[in-house]
Amino acid sequence: MYEDYRKAGEITKIVKKEVEEFLKEGTKVLEIAEFVENRIKSLGGELAFPCNISINEIAAHYSPPIYDETVLQNGDYVKIDMGAHVNGYIADTAFTVKIGEEKDDLIRASEEALENAISMIKAGVNTSDIGAKIEETIKSYGFKPIENLNGHRLAQNELHADITIPNIATDEGYILKDGEVFAVEPFSTDGAGRVVDEDRVFIFSYVMDRPVRLGLARKVLSEIRRNYPDLPFAERWLSKKFPGRKLDFALKTLMRNGNIYNYNVLRDEKRGFVAQKEHTVIVKKDGCEITT
Ligand code: MN
Ligand code: MN
Repeated sequence: MYEDYRKAGEITKIVKKEVEEFLKEGTKVLEIAEFVENRIKSLGGELAFPCNISINEIAAHYSPPIYDETVLQNGDYVKIDMGAHVNGYIADTAFTVKIGEEKDDLIRASEEALENAISMIKAGVNTSDIGAKIEETIKSYGFKPIENLNGHRLAQNELHADITIPNIATDEGYILKDGEVFAVEPFSTDGAGRVVDEDRVFIFSYVMDRPVRLGLARKVLSEIRRNYPDLPFAERWLSKKFPGRKLDFALKTLMRNGNIYNYNVLRDEKRGFVAQKEHTVIVKKDGCEITT
């Protein structure tokens, strides 16, 4: 199991390095997502979730649909969040770049918060203390952590298992145990420090079978159940089999009917810029091992 976590992590290390050359003005966001996902697969991994490419005030859950014409612009804060798995053991990792410019304090704040969090992770540590350290680090730069996004435990075929690692101090925490695997992901912003749902949805996950009247929706649901029973999937992944805008309507029908869960695009409430940095770690007795 830990070997699989490490293999998945090694794959993401390679892809993170290779994707850098795409992060310049004029690249289509769609091209980046397809590169990341195809490369994870060609390196022997499977996709733990669609590649998220969230720009500026968008914090998470933007994965370009097949018809997306968005291109990167100089000055954009671009967050690339990728997930690979081997036999269901997941590597979840993210980083931020500012297009055409050097790294700035907003990005540094999220990076240093992650470093500080990781340096204190070991068995016996309370997640609330980790959250406090993340909050303190980001505030020392004059920014806010995003309080309603958090790190999370990983388990086989489970991206967001029970336990979370907050990005702020919390009343009650959880004591980390030897051998547990967590994704830690501080977000820094010059905005509100809270994300809200947009109406747009490009990422979903299967919930349950339940009768649905629309024929196309039934077909789409059976495709989802067969291919993505556990982990999130992108609208884009279904577009080959179900071309055209009718797929949007089928997915909305399945959402309303409770067959699939919707991961709405998340943006900072005051439309501030957002940076994120994320690693997956294995908790050890006297420290932790970074897999990504
Ligand atoms: Mn992630
Ligand atoms: Mn994560």
